[in-house]
Amino acid sequence: MDRRDFLKNTVAGGVGLGMLGAAGGAQAAQGPAPGGKVPRRQLGATGADVPILLMGGTQKFDDRYDKTLHRAFELGVDYIDTAREYAQGQAQKTIGTFMKQVGDRKKMWVTSKATLVGADATPEGFRTGVDQCLEGLETDYLDMFFMHMITDERLFGPDFIRTSEELKKAGKIRFFGFSCHDGNSAELMAAAAKMGGGVDAIMFRYNFREYGDVALNKAIDACKAAGIGLIAMKTQASVPADLDAVVEFRSQDFTLGQAKLKAVWADERIDAAVSAMTNVNLVTENTAAAMSPVKLSMNEFMQLNRLAALTAHAHCLGCKQRCEPRANGLRIADTLRYLMYHECYGETDEARALYRALPRKARDFKAIDLSEATAACPQGIRIAERLAQARHVLTA
Ligand code: SF4
Repeated sequence: MDRRDFLKNTVAGGVGLGMLGAAGGAQAAQGPAPGGKVPRRQLGATGADVPILLMGGTQKFDDRYDKTLHRAFELGVDYIDTAREYAQGQAQKTIGTFMKQVGDRKKMWVTSKATLVGADATPEGFRTGVDQCLEGLETDYLDMFFMHMITDERLFGPDFIRTSEELKKAGKIRFFGFSCHDGNSAELMAAAAKMGGGVDAIMFRYNFREYGDVALNKAIDACKAAGIGLIAMKTQASVPADLDAVVEFRSQDFTLGQAKLKAVWADERIDAAVSAMTNVNLVTENTAAAMSPVKLSMNEFMQLNRLAALTAHAHCLGCKQRCEPRANGLRIADTLRYLMYHECYGETDEARALYRALPRKARDFKAIDLSEATAACPQGIRIAERLAQARHVLTA
C-alpha cells in the first residue's frame, strides 16, 4: 500500500493517527476533531453565514433515517442544496423527512431549484416552481431559490426579480439566484453583477481546472464587488479514477479529493463549495478537510495543475459555445456530461435516461464532420471518439 492509498484508507477507516506528519495534516486525514464544526463564511451580502461545505442533495436519501445527512448536520453542514427535478422528485421528499427529524426548520438552510424552459420560463413558471419545491420538501419557505442551469439572462431579468421580491414578501423564499453549468457562465455572472442588485447568490462550476480562465475570474471579481454570494460546484472536476491516479498525488496532509476542495476554499472570493456526499466516509473526509487549518502547499497546487493538464482530454469544461456551433445541432457538452455520470459517478441508469431524452438530431453524429469542433476544443478532447463511447455505453 503506498502513502496515497494509506491516507485514503485511513480516512475511510478512521484509523492510523499520529503517523502522518504535521498535526493538522493528521487531523485532516483521519477525520474531523471531536466536537468540531465546519467553518462558516458570509454568503455575499445576504447577511447570513453558511458552512464552507454544503451538502449536495441530488440523490434519494434513506427516508427512514439517513446517516449521511445526520452526520453531516452534526458536523456543521446545515445547508442542503437540492432541486425539484433531482431523483424524479424523490430527493426533495427524503430531505423533507430529514428536516422533520431535525425538528427545527430554522436550524437548517434549504436551497431548492427548478429548471424553467420553454413555456415554463415565465414569472408564472417561477411561482409554480417555488410552490412545487415547497410542496416537495413539505416546508413553508426556501432559504434560497435558484433558477436551475440557466443559459439565458432573461431568467434573472426585471420580471423575474420583481417576482422574486413578491415571493420574498410572501415569505416563500428568503433569497434568490441562479445556477449555471455551461457555456456562458462568465457572461451570466458578469450580467448579474452589472444589475446592481436582485441576484443574491450564484452557484457555478469552479475547480482547479479553471484557475486560468480570465473571463470567469473577471466575472467572479465583479460578483464579489456586487455583493453576490458565490457557491462553487463540480469541485472534483471528475475524470475516471484511473486517470485521476496518473499524477500519483502525494501529500502529508490531504487525499486528492480533499486537496481539490482545499484548492477552491483557498480562493477567498468563494463563499462555499457544494459536494454530493453520498456516504458517511465522504462526509468524514470532506468535513475534515474543511476543518483543517493546514493550507495547500505550493507542491500540492502544482500537482493539481499537472493533473489538470494531463487529464484535460478526458474532462469537458462545458464551454459548448466553442464546439457546438461547428457541430450541426449536436449537444456535445450534454452528451459528455452524461458520459461523465456513467464513468465517474457510476450513475449509469440516470445517464442513459438523460441520453435517451436528447433529440435524435442532438446525438446522431455519424454524418457530421467534427474536425472543426475538435480543433476548437481547449481541452484537446477527441470529440468524435468520445461521442462514439457515449453512444456505446449509454444506449446499451
Ligand atoms: S468538448 Fe471541448 S469545446 Fe466542447 S464543451 Fe467540452 S471542453 Fe468545451
